[in-house]
Amino acid sequence: MNGDLASLPTLVPVVPGERPKLGSGAAKAPPGLPDRKALGDATKALLERLETLQAAFHADARRALLLVLQGRDASGKDGTIRTVVGACNPMGVRVAAFGPPTDRELAHDFLWRVHQVVPPRGVIGVFNRSHYEDVLVVRVRKLAPSSVWKPRFQQICDFERMLVENGTVIVKCCLHISKDEQKQRLQERLDDPQKNWKFRLGDLDDRAHWDKYTVAYRDMLAKTSTAVAPWYVVPADDNRVRNYFVARLLVDTLEAMDLRYPRMAPEVAKAARGFK
Ligand code: ADP
Repeated sequence: MNGDLASLPTLVPVVPGERPKLGSGAAKAPPGLPDRKALGDATKALLERLETLQAAFHADARRALLLVLQGRDASGKDGTIRTVVGACNPMGVRVAAFGPPTDRELAHDFLWRVHQVVPPRGVIGVFNRSHYEDVLVVRVRKLAPSSVWKPRFQQICDFERMLVENGTVIVKCCLHISKDEQKQRLQERLDDPQKNWKFRLGDLDDRAHWDKYTVAYRDMLAKTSTAVAPWYVVPADDNRVRNYFVARLLVDTLEAMDLRYPRMAPEVAKAARGFK
């Protein structure tokens, strides 16, 4: 990490058991960030670094990386994937999106569909929404009784610990937008013909349940941020700020991994010496 980047703010993980407030202030840029131009330059440098690190991570192939992107409608999950994950070589990336479960999926436990799409070693897996919908939309819309969704907090922690113990590094980002910003973004989806397709009537229902979702998100963060799989609340009202923080998390995570390119086996090197 070069000196300029190292001096910029980073996010701290949610302390296990603590319920972040998730007010509108937390969706804004925190103090200490440079102006837009300098932040854009910092993110550009981070994305170049990410590309380099991912190449080594892919070749190294000792671990998998799972990036969970969870957030309300229009919180910028797609944009984060396009801009931040887009800096990576697609060969080493798999994106999985989670919509309402199919009948087949509903016939299994809620983690069945999730486990099938976790990344293999050497791959960065990105979840656009995730297993956390099963303690969010399911809770708020009463799709299952509390006797079903409450035990899921612990089940999720156990599942993620199992993944970590088997070589997956997990980074969980809760993209946090304010109610005003969501209104503007939904309005844009109505007004801009190129964004109409993203608008669903269900988005308005979810918006009407804003406060219930806030409670559900706060509980989710408190109960499932763990030492092995921490949550980060990403201020997401400004796309640039959001991209900077997610890029920074990925770069810091990969840099902490002690990545190395596998060495060529001596017999291969010997046999290939002087090839024509
Ligand atoms: P997005 O809104 O993420 O761009 P979609 O328009 O396909 O994508 O919406 C996905 C929808 O699927 C969301 O409303 C989400 O709450 C819902 N969903 C995801 N997982 C579940 C689940 N386990 N149970 C019920 N609904 C779910």
